[in-house]
Parts: sequence; structure tokens; C-alpha cells
Amino acid sequence: MSSRGSPLVEKIDLHIHTSFSDGNYSVEEAVKIAEIKGLKVLAITDHYSELQYRPNRITRSQFSRYVQTLNSYNVLKGVEVEILQDGTVSISKKKVDELDIIIGGLHSINNIKFWGDSSPIWDTKRFVEKVRVALIKAMESEILDVIAHVSWLPEIIRKETHRVITNDWIKSVVDACYDWGVAVELNCAWKVPDERFVEYCVKKEVKLSIGSDAHQRSMIGKTDYAINIIKRMKVPKDLIFLPTSLF
Ligand SMILES: [Zn+2]
Ligand SMILES: [Zn+2]
Repeated sequence: MSSRGSPLVEKIDLHIHTSFSDGNYSVEEAVKIAEIKGLKVLAITDHYSELQYRPNRITRSQFSRYVQTLNSYNVLKGVEVEILQDGTVSISKKKVDELDIIIGGLHSINNIKFWGDSSPIWDTKRFVEKVRVALIKAMESEILDVIAHVSWLPEIIRKETHRVITNDWIKSVVDACYDWGVAVELNCAWKVPDERFVEYCVKKEVKLSIGSDAHQRSMIGKTDYAINIIKRMKVPKDLIFLPTSLF
């Protein structure tokens, strides 16, 4: 389903889960749905962690079966790896060559999960600072192509996002993306980052990746959030991220 040249932004989805991790449909079903929806550039990016066992993550021993399965379809082969609090990413460098796209996702800090966790966060400023440091450290690994849901925060402080994610925070993270050649994802499930963030990406010429972060069938190719922001902000076409294996 991947194609050469420059596809329309409406036809790209670079962040799709399947039942290999926590999606509720098979790769085959995902590919079929994407075809029906007319997607041209499609990446399957299931959660992968070889650092420690986590539920709903592909493990090291399942990795080759995963890659083999994706090889039998015309899709880009990807994973979403964990970014740990200390910036470690949950994949070893030798696995990277077998894949087209590595997305890094931060899903917990201080054992507080960003989803389905109502633990209190006493010092929001400090928490957000830890997020910033983890993201930047992860980029320094030179493993990541894309940072997923970059300004996503735990539910309990999510409403404060605009206040706690300051311009300096944005600048620092985007500058690191520029330095390490990492794209920022327009995550359509969580609707992050916001225009302020995208504006600075465009100014810095940091690329933007389009991802539905689909876990359900209906979410595949649902990238309205990204498309709207790209159009509204007149993001130049050459700033839309595509994996290098397409060229
Ligand atoms: Zn994620
Ligand atoms: Zn995801």
C-alpha cells in the first residue's frame, strides 16, 4: 500500500495498532479497512518492548513473527516503542534495520500512566519537566523517527496542558527534534500537539507525521485532526514526514 512520490495528506496513516499488541483487529483486517478507505501510505506500528514484560506489548521472541507477518502485506513495518522515564527506548539498535518506522511513545512517569490512571500529581510543573527530559533523552538514542503524542499528559492534569506546556517547553522539545532529525506526530486519537506547537515545528522546519493511533477498526485512517491542522496552518508539503524507505 506504500507508494512512491508525494501522496496526499488525506491518504497517510503512520500509526496503527493491531491485535499483535492492543488493537482489536488483525493485520489483515487493518489492511483491508485501509484499502477500503483509500489509504496510500500505511504503517502498522504495534507496541514493542524488549526491556521488560508489559501486557499488550510485542516481546522480543514475537518480533520476527510480527515482521514476517507485515512482510506479507504491502505496508510499512513499524513499532511504537516505550520511552522510559530515563529516556531509554525499548528496542535494541539491531532490530531497527528490520523496520521502516520507529515511533517513540511516553506512556508513564513516576509509575503514573497517562491513560486510565487517576493517581494524583502534586507537582505538575515538575511532572511536565520530567516528560520533557525523557523525550529529549530518548531522541538522543538516534533510534526514533517520530515522537508520538508529544504533549499528551495524564488525564488528571490534561486540562492544564495549555498552561503547563509552556513556550519554552515547546521550544526545547522541538529544538531537540531538529537536532536529532525526529519528526513530531500529529496524533489524531489524542489530538495533540496544538497549533502553538505546530507553528514552532514549521518555523524550525521539523517534520510532522500523521497518525491515527488506531486501536479500533473505525479509527484506521481517521486523521482529521492532522489534516485540519495541516491545512489551517498551511504546513508546506515537504514538512510532512514519510519514512525514508519510501524513497
Ligand atoms: Zn502511545
Ligand atoms: Zn500508539
